[in-house]
Amino acid sequence: MHSQLAGRNACVIGAGFGGLALAIRLQAAGLATTLIEARAEPGGQAQQWRQDGFIFDAGPGLIADPAALRELWALTGHDLADDVELLPVATGIRFSWPDGSHFDLHGDAAELRREMARFAPADIAGYDALLRHLAHARHQLPGAVNAPAPDAGSMARALPAMLRLQAWRSVHDTVSRFITSTRLREALSVQVLMRGGNPMAASSLSMPGDLIRPTGTCWCIRGGTSRLAAGMARQFERLGGTIRLGDPVARVEILGNRATGVTTRSGWQADFDSVASNADIVHSYRDLLGHTQRGRRQGRALARKPFGPGLFSVHFALEGSWPGIPQHMVLFGPRFAELMNDIFNIGVLPQDQLIFLHHPTVTDPGLAPTGRSTFQAVMPVANLGRLPIDWRQIGPLLEQRLIDEVGRRLIPDIHDRVIHRFHYAPPDLAQDLGTHLGSAFSIEPRLMQSGGLRPRNRDAVIGNFHLVGAGTWPGAGLSAVLHGAGAAAGLMLEELTQ
Ligand SMILES: Cc1cc2nc3c(=O)[nH]c(=O)nc-3n(C[C@H](O)[C@H](O)[C@H](O)COP(=O)(O)OP(=O)(O)OC[C@H]3O[C@@H](n4cnc5c(N)ncnc54)[C@H](O)[C@@H]3O)c2cc1C
Repeated sequence: MHSQLAGRNACVIGAGFGGLALAIRLQAAGLATTLIEARAEPGGQAQQWRQDGFIFDAGPGLIADPAALRELWALTGHDLADDVELLPVATGIRFSWPDGSHFDLHGDAAELRREMARFAPADIAGYDALLRHLAHARHQLPGAVNAPAPDAGSMARALPAMLRLQAWRSVHDTVSRFITSTRLREALSVQVLMRGGNPMAASSLSMPGDLIRPTGTCWCIRGGTSRLAAGMARQFERLGGTIRLGDPVARVEILGNRATGVTTRSGWQADFDSVASNADIVHSYRDLLGHTQRGRRQGRALARKPFGPGLFSVHFALEGSWPGIPQHMVLFGPRFAELMNDIFNIGVLPQDQLIFLHHPTVTDPGLAPTGRSTFQAVMPVANLGRLPIDWRQIGPLLEQRLIDEVGRRLIPDIHDRVIHRFHYAPPDLAQDLGTHLGSAFSIEPRLMQSGGLRPRNRDAVIGNFHLVGAGTWPGAGLSAVLHGAGAAAGLMLEELTQ
């Protein structure tokens, strides 16, 4: 422990994955840390519902980068496996089209090669070239893992490389430079949607490692991803951290240009040397700092930015089990570029859809009673700013439509098998977690809102107020918010020890 940290303390507002990871890092460094969460459980978007022996898990289901998690336990000589069990996911991701054709993005390199030879033999060399291009970009562009956002100087120095690498091109455009198959282009660019980006507009080089999943095993968490949040909370408390649940922070106290403490909705108050917020970025400025000019200004400026899409999720439990349906599928509809335009630019609810289908019980049967299964069909939709419809009316219709589509494509007698079903729409996320416009990914990762141009992990005016999570550097998604927590922890510890 750094001697200058003795007697110092910090507060982290919000126990999403970004907040949990930051709290662990601070506490592990010897800084007495209090984590305050509005809800009764930690985990943020990784929520869980239980009914009649079924566990319905929300949030990210695929862990592509377990090393970033292991690091949080290894900091203090502990082992992730003490709290969380990782299960390998077979097949990686299956992409399927309405005519029944499919492409499996295997984690295993040899299997992937065989699949490429079957699906798009002409693109094998192009795929290798694409991977080389992205690996090269990773080395050329600023912004290392767990490091803060690149500053203006390093951005300027990187400009020639960005021009050479054609950083202005979208993910789909970049993939299309190397890949000729229309369907493979869709498969290799659609994943940016789960970072909140429009494949037709998000810069391919803002986060090159994340966009096209490198080969390697993917994992899920036994018992659901919310078990990961519970495990992180346990690790934090084991290190001596304090968690306060079910009491939202109402206000960050400010004196001059320093944060001095927080007040919660229940009236609880405490002083802190350093404060970080993992809450939605607009809420953090507009509400928690709304009594300051900085908070009001920044809240207004951030609210004007384009935000990522919302997600409409249908959770359903079925009688029977389906060993042939992989854990993760993407069911493409008849349109791709036009559908993205509807979601990101026009803001309509189209007749067709793109579905991310999760089937967790194929890997972890314990999530349902014997012989039964759970599924989650997730459809990206325009956020509440672009599509201000009455979701109470539309929700049940869309729920039916998604179940019909899964039935048509995969389970013909689905309607006779449904035991439970419910949906979760963008207004639910806005209400439950305070997310701006119900976006599951916060600020949209367009070129001018990515990389060093994303909000930073330290406020520019209030020097001991920090930010972590989807709205900040480096972006949304589990692995990004974990890396953002590493960056924020470094800045907070530096600020307290310099
Ligand atoms: C259905 C779904 C599927 C997804 N799938 C994927 C995927 O496949 N891959 C992927 O990488 N990502 C996925 N994501 C996105 C990923 O889950 C998020 O980017 C990530 O979890 C966001 O973490 P975060 O740290 O920003 O915090 P959040 O999860 O947004 O949590 C913020 C926390 O702050 C709390 N809070 C808010 N206001 C206050 C306050 N005033 N006081 C105290 N606490 C407060 C909230 O209650 C919440 O717990 C998915 C998201 C959803 C909804």
